[in-house]
Amino acid sequence: MDSRSWVPGSSGNLSARLDEGLIAITRSGVHKGRLTEADIMAVDEAGHAVLEGQRPSAETLLHCQLYRLFPPIGAVLHGHSVAATVLSKLGPITFSQYELLKAFGFATHDLDVTLPVYENDQDIARLAAWIEPLLVREPPIGYVIAGHGVYAWGSSVEHAFWRLEALEFLLTCELERRKIK
Ligand SMILES: [Zn+2]
Repeated sequence: MDSRSWVPGSSGNLSARLDEGLIAITRSGVHKGRLTEADIMAVDEAGHAVLEGQRPSAETLLHCQLYRLFPPIGAVLHGHSVAATVLSKLGPITFSQYELLKAFGFATHDLDVTLPVYENDQDIARLAAWIEPLLVREPPIGYVIAGHGVYAWGSSVEHAFWRLEALEFLLTCELERRKIK
């Protein structure tokens, strides 16, 4: 993600589901391109640090929410790419008739898929509560927080990365398409 410029500064956060209701997640304020083992910590399903004194990423609750709502999810990746950030400022994002939509399990390119854009909120608990019914009603292929970044997930870290890569490809195509329209 760092080599693609999807996690500038100390932005973004990465997590994976562990056994026994625990989640491994990047610590707050660390650069995702220079991660060491010490930069990854464990939290419980409510987002509380297992080891006292460790501070998880600010958006830990959004990761925990996805694991709680969708048991098949094994990893969640969040980045702040230019394409996701810029497009999210322009309203809803719909991918129409892209072959790469099949990366999300669709049998055909011949459809329109909307990537939800949720308003940003520094109160992550309030944001999580607001988006929960939307996620449950119609589980999306990922989502974007306006002016902020994208959330993607998969059954494993590798699968989540593939899906994020596909999502970022679609976002970049859409941004480029709008530039030349
Ligand atoms: Zn973020």
